[in-house]
Order: sequence, then structure tokens, then C-alpha cells
Amino acid sequence: MNKICGSDVHMNQAYEDGYIYYPGLTAFPVTIGHEFSGEIVEVGNRALSKRTGKPFETGEPVTVEEMVWCGECKPCCDGYPNHCERLQEIGFSIDGAFAEYIAVPAKLCWSLKKLEDKYKDIYKIGSLVEPTSVAYNAVIERGGGIRPGENVVILGGGPIGLAAIKILKMAGAAICVISEPSEPRALLAKKMGADFVINPLKESFVEKVKEFTDNEGAALYLESAGLPEICTEDIQNAIWECKAINSTVVVVARAEQRMPVCGEYFQVRRARIVGAQGHSGHGTFPNVISCMAAGMDVTPMITKEITLNEVPENIKLLQTDKVNCKISTVIK
Ligand SMILES: [Zn+2]
Ligand SMILES: [Zn+2]
Repeated sequence: MNKICGSDVHMNQAYEDGYIYYPGLTAFPVTIGHEFSGEIVEVGNRALSKRTGKPFETGEPVTVEEMVWCGECKPCCDGYPNHCERLQEIGFSIDGAFAEYIAVPAKLCWSLKKLEDKYKDIYKIGSLVEPTSVAYNAVIERGGGIRPGENVVILGGGPIGLAAIKILKMAGAAICVISEPSEPRALLAKKMGADFVINPLKESFVEKVKEFTDNEGAALYLESAGLPEICTEDIQNAIWECKAINSTVVVVARAEQRMPVCGEYFQVRRARIVGAQGHSGHGTFPNVISCMAAGMDVTPMITKEITLNEVPENIKLLQTDKVNCKISTVIK
């Protein structure tokens, strides 16, 4: 089972000069698709399951990391596979999962077996492990997580922002505020567990953060909108205006623009900014699967189900569509 990602949409969208929107690693021609789950049909003789320590069994349900980290470069050897220097990416630089079968290295496969008791369709939620892991890496691994009872503010209700709501609620966030101008996305954010939504085009971000958090502000701010100039301005003003010290700002959205930062605000409020990239290593994939097994259901973000043949037209649709979030292929 497969999800269409914003990256898939951007790889199929070009500027006037012909260059594609997607700025990351690619090698064409390539079969796209990188948020997926499926059943093992054939196993190499050294393809060991991390669950059993023995070769994967055929029929085992798995999901797969999209980042094919090499395990041999300096960042990999230092324990930072998200920053691999010889990275390949499934569905970007090597053939991906909008296909019936895909061959992947066993080291990237994670069993979905523990979801079997909890979910009717483990492949549906299993294909959301990848984007949810990007959010987990951002707010927990890089952002340092939160202490139960602290507040969080998320800017941008795309799949990463939406998954972050679920993760931070599970981590004990008292109040989760999301800033999102699109009405359907705002409704989805509520469905995913956000307590309050700010429409930054219609109301003051800072005033609303103060109001919703009783002037306490947030321990963690997530920039998942891809608008660094606007978001940074809003976030640091909120940090300045609220009483909280020690806020962490996590930047997970990719953007070329620079962030305007007032050092004074960060000094006086003892705040920090960290960058987050990727979903591999640090126990992230297995922890996300365990969170799902414990009840963290992220499937409300799936807004439409299609067949494999309908993928091209739906990638086109997502170029302009503001209603759908994750479109998922199903086996029909
Ligand atoms: Zn993706
Ligand atoms: Zn590497």
C-alpha cells in the first residue's frame, strides 16, 4: 500500500524554465513512491528480520525506510544515518513503490506484526510510518521532546505537522495549537487531536498563542509550513511575548529562504533553533510502530483511497487540491 507524498507531486511539477519543483536528490527515469507497506514475498538468504533475528518469513507485513543510508560513510558510522553522504532514496534516485513488487534491502524493513491486533488494515496505517517518523525525528529526536504538561505550537498542517500533533499528544502535551490557514486542513488537525487552530491570515498568531496558552507559550514550536520568513517572525515574537523560557524551535520543512532571527530574543528567553532531517536511526521507525500499536492512530489524515492505476491523475490533482491530505492506494 502506498501514499502519495508532496515530494511525488513536486517531482511532477515544473517551473517555467523546465526545472522541477522538488529540490532534493533524484535520478531519472525512476518509479516514484516511497511511503509504503507490503507483504514479504521473497527473501534473500541473508535478509534477517530485526524482530526475530532470523530470515524474514514470507507473508510478514513490513514497512520500509525510504532513505537507503550506506552504513559506511562518516555520518553513518557516527550514528547519524539521516545525514548519510552516499544516500540513495527509494522513489527518488532508485525505483520506488508505485508498483506491485519492490526489492529493498532487509536493513530498511520493519515488521508491522504488532499492529495486527489493533488495526483492521495494517497496511493502511503501515504506509504512514514513514511520514510519521519524519515528524517523530523532528519533535522527539531533534527537538528533545516535551515533558508531560507542556504546550506545543505547530505551524503548518501538512502530513508532518498533523503527525506531530499525534506524537506530541501521546508525549503528554497539555495544549496543542496549530497554525493553518486552510479550512479542510484545520478540520483535519482537530481530528488529529489539536486543541486550538489559528488562522494566521485572519488573526494575530502571537495574540492567539498567548490567549490559548494563558500567556505560557510553548516548550516546542515546529516549523512544518515551509515559510521560514513568516514562521520565524511569528515564533520568535511569541517566544518573546510569552513568559516561557527554554523553548525549542524545530525546523523540519525545507525551504530556500533565510530565517530572520533576533539573537536577543533567543538569548533572553534561553531559546534554541534546531534543524531536523529524515526518519532513519535513533529507534525512530520501531518507536513509531510501537506508538501505533499502543493506539496512536494517524489514519484520519488519509482523505482518499485510489487504485495503483489512478496514481498519475491524483498526483496531478494534488498540484492544486487543498482538500486532500494523504491519498492512499489500496489493493482492490
Ligand atoms: Zn514523503
Ligand atoms: Zn552513509
